[in-house]
Amino acid sequence: MLVDYHTHNELCKHADGALEEYVRHAVRIGLKEIGLADHSPMPNDWDIEVRMYEEQFWSLYKPAVLELREKYRGQIDIKFAVEGDFFPGTEEWVREFNAKNEFDYVIGSVHYLGEWGFDNPLYVGKFDHAEIDQVYLSYYDHIKRSAACGLFDIVGHCDLVKKFGHRPTKDIEEVLRETLKVVKNAGMAVEINTSGLRKPVKEVYPSETILRICSELDIPLTLGSDAHTPGDVGRDFEVAKGLVERYGKGRISLYTRRQRSEVSIA
Ligand code: ZN
Ligand code: FE
Ligand code: FE
Ligand code: ZN
Repeated sequence: MLVDYHTHNELCKHADGALEEYVRHAVRIGLKEIGLADHSPMPNDWDIEVRMYEEQFWSLYKPAVLELREKYRGQIDIKFAVEGDFFPGTEEWVREFNAKNEFDYVIGSVHYLGEWGFDNPLYVGKFDHAEIDQVYLSYYDHIKRSAACGLFDIVGHCDLVKKFGHRPTKDIEEVLRETLKVVKNAGMAVEINTSGLRKPVKEVYPSETILRICSELDIPLTLGSDAHTPGDVGRDFEVAKGLVERYGKGRISLYTRRQRSEVSIA
């Protein structure tokens, strides 16, 4: 069985389509579950250009997700989730926000290194002036801390820093291994996120190097398209399935109320 645990919708202002259109697409392609995991609000409505207002979370997003869950019962299981951000200094706010909700899971993503939204095409120019190996080290340090802080269930797009095709000049396998040991100790899963195939890097997140280390450490996997348009739900999952077979013993993780279980994709 297949599920898509990483989808967005128009509330984040950089995705198209209403929540229900994502659900309908998932039903059409025969997914067993869809996770609605839009970008979480942040303290003081920070970075509102790319996410919903907190007020919209309470008045629109949460009620809509719970209503859709009832409406589609028997057709597809709908998970109530968010894609959270690891941003140092916001941990307490996020902890309280998560505790006020009955999320099925929370994805932990690193989209900021300091104030730099490094995956935003508007700020890609900064890569030209940055020391790329330092950027990579800083990125994985953030991933490590995002796992250690205990706020999240799933590591989102674990090597997003490659999005525009920038590569480290040195071998970073030891850095990856140390990072993933922290992920393992935190009991988290790593998602196979197919959106990288639609980005300049044209690769799944994460790389097969990372997936090989995940399999060595026995870190569980989840599946997500990171769809920002309804038609991208489940996109390129044939590729993802091959990776789950190779690096995850053919099994993926499911979550309910932040409890993990496992199922075979066959
Ligand atoms: Zn997004
Ligand atoms: Fe993301
Ligand atoms: Fe996302
Ligand atoms: Zn994402």
